[in-house]
Amino acid sequence: MLTLTHYQILRFISASGPTTRAELVSRIGLSKAAMSGLARELIDKNLLRETSTIQKQGRPSTLLDLDPQGAYFIGVSMASDPAVIALVDFKGEIVNRIDIARSTDPDEFAQAIANCLPKLIGGAAVAQKRVLGMGVTLSGLVDQEQANCIKSTILGWQDVPLAKIIHKHTHLPTFIENDAKALAVSERLFGEARDMHSFSLIWLGKGIGAAHFVHDRLHRGAHGGAGEIAHCTIEPNGLPCRCGKTGCLDTVASMIAILDAARAQGLKAETLDDIERAAASGSSVAIRLLHRAGSALGLAISQIIQINDPQMVLVTHREERFDGLFSTVMQQAIEANVLPRLSGVTPIQFRKVADADWAVGAASVATHSFLHGFI
Ligand SMILES: [Zn+2]
Repeated sequence: MLTLTHYQILRFISASGPTTRAELVSRIGLSKAAMSGLARELIDKNLLRETSTIQKQGRPSTLLDLDPQGAYFIGVSMASDPAVIALVDFKGEIVNRIDIARSTDPDEFAQAIANCLPKLIGGAAVAQKRVLGMGVTLSGLVDQEQANCIKSTILGWQDVPLAKIIHKHTHLPTFIENDAKALAVSERLFGEARDMHSFSLIWLGKGIGAAHFVHDRLHRGAHGGAGEIAHCTIEPNGLPCRCGKTGCLDTVASMIAILDAARAQGLKAETLDDIERAAASGSSVAIRLLHRAGSALGLAISQIIQINDPQMVLVTHREERFDGLFSTVMQQAIEANVLPRLSGVTPIQFRKVADADWAVGAASVATHSFLHGFI
């Protein structure tokens, strides 16, 4: 049984990386003897391990780090079909992966997950008792308890108690989460945002997703939809959107919108890169499209910067390259639309996301729950 202080130590090392006992004493505020005992208990439970020894102020100090083999989490991503089910270690590395057909029947899908767990876990030679929980991500709104899918247009779900259904079949503590929010959790635990307490993540795919950590908490708002920029009105009286409004950002800057507009204007384009190459060759249609979409996304991100003042905005995408006209215009639009005092102070980072990253995101939701004592 772990105490709140055990979790505090694990969270500190998770965020800071390998740490000495002395550093833990000064940061967490316990006596040396108490810290030594707690660290020993975590080592005995295989949650921490001693790594290397460093010289600090002339004396050798041993570094403590999370033991990647001490705890495992299952990540299920419904972002793609087939869905990806991954077994992920305590440090966010995938150790095994199985792809299964994505069923929109919750019971059928839960049973399919349960059926493949012995192969997933056994195939990696991991002891069942080390698998502590499961995270499931989907495109849609998820409630505060990370238990119910409030609405998913893609899956055709409304008020589906997915965590409970999956738990019934797998007996694992299960948490569900919106896909962009889960990706932000994995960036917070394992990635670019490891040492940040406030940052925003934007996902540019077929649709546009967004997630925001504010003071170390995933910001959800009163109804779970806080910071969802896709359906902010960006062009009043613009094109009709699938949400029922008109002129949403999604109708201008999502990949579906960009590619639809390109084809409607006679450009042969399957990817953003196709349009970028046409623009580089002087196609005025391609240049206009990239300007319109990049400006719209940049304008929306500038609002996020003004509202949340994040330490970083991480733009995630599926493209091989993201350094063309679209990205340039987007960054210019951000700079042009934030208050002068915020201009240039918020780094905009980019990262390509693969199918497997969504599954790591899903698992990280369970890891995050474990680190906060909810498992
Ligand atoms: Zn909309």
